Amino acid sequence: MTAPKVAVVGAGVIGLSTALCITETSPSCSVTVLSDQFSPNTTSDAAAGMLIPHTYPGTPIHVQKQWFKETFRYLFAISNSAEASEAGIHLVSGWQIFKSTPKEELPFWSDVVLGFRPMSKAELQKFPQHQFGQAFTTLKCDCPPYLLWLEKRLKANGIQMYTRKVTDLWELHSEYNIVVNCAGIGAHQLVEDKKLFPIRGQVLKVLAPWVKNFIRDGDGLTYIYPGMHQVTLGGTREKDSWSLSPDPGTTKDIFDRCCSLEPSLREAQDIKVKVGLRPSRWCVRLQREVLSQGGVKLPIVHNYGHGSGGFSVHRGTAKEAARLVRECIASLQGSSSRAKL
Ligand code: FAD
Repeated sequence: MTAPKVAVVGAGVIGLSTALCITETSPSCSVTVLSDQFSPNTTSDAAAGMLIPHTYPGTPIHVQKQWFKETFRYLFAISNSAEASEAGIHLVSGWQIFKSTPKEELPFWSDVVLGFRPMSKAELQKFPQHQFGQAFTTLKCDCPPYLLWLEKRLKANGIQMYTRKVTDLWELHSEYNIVVNCAGIGAHQLVEDKKLFPIRGQVLKVLAPWVKNFIRDGDGLTYIYPGMHQVTLGGTREKDSWSLSPDPGTTKDIFDRCCSLEPSLREAQDIKVKVGLRPSRWCVRLQREVLSQGGVKLPIVHNYGHGSGGFSVHRGTAKEAARLVRECIASLQGSSSRAKL
């Protein structure tokens, strides 16, 4: 068999990182990214990009932990390299605070982030409404620069990227040997996945360079995440809302909630509003499928449904998707050599 042709559908953080992992682990493949939108117009561009995992109820915790660990290690190495600023990856320290002590005082990811510990009484004085807190250092991606950095790496590896809306994965069968579906919320329509639903998120990006520490209210609804250039203030979680229009009432509510945690934000400048639809599911769909029509087969690898935590686990799930692509290549090579016998 000649070099297998792989199409990756989607150019958010999942599609771009999956395409990169495939070229790194199967260099003989010819990989193409097809997407109807690229940065800065994806959900991934709207995200805060903090590495604090979201829990997927349908995925074993040890698997989620492995995905997070791999992602953390990968981004930690970038943060420690000369490329950190261009890639928009940096370490950030701060606090996750709670109004009452949570059931789980040690989240499953506590030994992956750096220096995880309970907050001291003195630290908690900063948050008079809160009784308990955890201090740690994690990583943050500034999302649009990170997506551009991934695109640059892909181009350097000879990967082609085309703007194209795919209406049915089968339409790619005559051009590609394997298709990888990283369409995010687009998979709702593309593969008619009714288990996939949007959780709308609205955030503000503001200039407040004096804010250096992250603050996350325990339920994760209100957060302040400083990036290299802007601070992300959040947020909302509106299940089954497909609206991409910013809501001015919500903007004011987010701003007020964040100012009650960090009053100095009242002086923040240049407030911009972003909205994204988290591609949510009981578990990430990370699996192989074979489409077949009239005796012709098209292997598919699905990698979508990362909900609120796509940045936190993207490298781990990309590696697993690349492994599934290698399985597809092995079975294609097996069937082509059987056909020659
Ligand atoms: P997308 O970024 O939506 O990419 C999907 C791609 O598929 C797009 O390029 C789209 O154009 C393309 N596509 C779709 N359908 C088709 C089609 N039919 N044909 C061709 N192309 C198609 N996660 C974290 O880990 N940490 C955070 O701090 C964080 N904060 C967030 C804050 C907000 C407000 C939001 C909305 C999300 C946040 N997330 C966070 C979650 C994270 O953004 C998502 O999990 C992640 O972006 C999903 O990436 P994706 O590549 O699957 O989807």
